[in-house]
Amino acid sequence: VSQAPQSHGIDLVRRLNTSLLLNILRTHSPQSRADLAKITGLGRTTVSSLVDELLGRGLIHEMGLQPSGGGRPGTELGLNPNGGCAIGIEINTNFILVVLTDFVAQVRWHKRIDVDSNEPGRFIFVAESLIKEALDYNARTERLNPLGIGVGVLGLVQAVTGELKLAPNLHWHNLPLQSMWQSRYGIPVFVENQATAAALGEYYFGAAKDYSDTIFIDASALGIGAGIVLGGKLFKGSQGFAGEAGHMVIDPAGPQCACGNHGCWEAVLNSAAIVSQLCAHLERGEQSIIFDLVQGKADNISLETVQQAADMNDPAAQAALIEASRWMGFGLANLVNIFNPQLIILGGVLSQTIAPYLEIVKQSVWERALAPSVDGVEIKLSTLGTNACVMGTIAVVLDEILREPV
Ligand SMILES: [Zn+2]
Repeated sequence: VSQAPQSHGIDLVRRLNTSLLLNILRTHSPQSRADLAKITGLGRTTVSSLVDELLGRGLIHEMGLQPSGGGRPGTELGLNPNGGCAIGIEINTNFILVVLTDFVAQVRWHKRIDVDSNEPGRFIFVAESLIKEALDYNARTERLNPLGIGVGVLGLVQAVTGELKLAPNLHWHNLPLQSMWQSRYGIPVFVENQATAAALGEYYFGAAKDYSDTIFIDASALGIGAGIVLGGKLFKGSQGFAGEAGHMVIDPAGPQCACGNHGCWEAVLNSAAIVSQLCAHLERGEQSIIFDLVQGKADNISLETVQQAADMNDPAAQAALIEASRWMGFGLANLVNIFNPQLIILGGVLSQTIAPYLEIVKQSVWERALAPSVDGVEIKLSTLGTNACVMGTIAVVLDEILREPV
């Protein structure tokens, strides 16, 4: 057993304790020094010294006296909104969204620009101009200390280097986004897979707030990703590529997936699969109002028109969405057996489309997963919706600061 030098050990303990206090104030604010000592089991002197340091760094602030309960009231402490700012950026296939938030993740500025291009250079150019705009706005108006930039992309991101290894839907590979922007902006940059970021967003700000073991499903029109939080921490795998749940083989005799395999989860559950499911009903001669919605042109049938028809109680469209809900349930059942989560959050446009059939999703999970694992699993829709990813990238930055505050 190697022994760390003693001062190093003390530094580590102090860092962990500081992080502990910040996290308590993040989730259960306000607290007095005495409350913090009671909750953490740390000595009063230790707590006071850590609190002084955090006050000095402006990360927390005093919020007045506690309501008197008979004894001597303590001073209430909470995270200081002006403790710094974070920039979050989502690079999607057809738009870029940037937000600037304060230290308690209140959005102070945001902007979205549609990008219609196959050129990675065009995305980088727009992203950099938006980051500059956010930094300029902060320097001019908010004047908060920039703590870092979080980036969410659809693709495989290497954990240590923050290099985007592969983004099939953007046609990118081996893009060193993290090191590139870190040297450009001189502040920490964190690059995350979109579903992973969204999972952290829901854990910090959304539906997963009070849960430690959750899985966020990002079911988009093209593919399915999973962000996994275990024991309150992101689970990324050895290199950062964990969560590619969309490529879990669910029907080996099924259609071919973009990855080359047959019957991946995202090959049987995506917008094109739902549309062809509906077309199969029509080919069997079933009546449907869908033809009226697309002016008789089968090529114009899209996920939106299927949803529209289903909302108008069209049996064929509803059958297609019920089928999709079952596929959703089958995949989730596998994840329940493997991870035994408390909560599964469904996000992405596909989840919104099958939202009216959530009970069918649950039923097929219940039927397929092993009884002890599935007991008590909650399945909910994302509460952050389209902001899940970008708020997740903010969470990535704040999480790092809360973990390594000194
Ligand atoms: Zn696949």
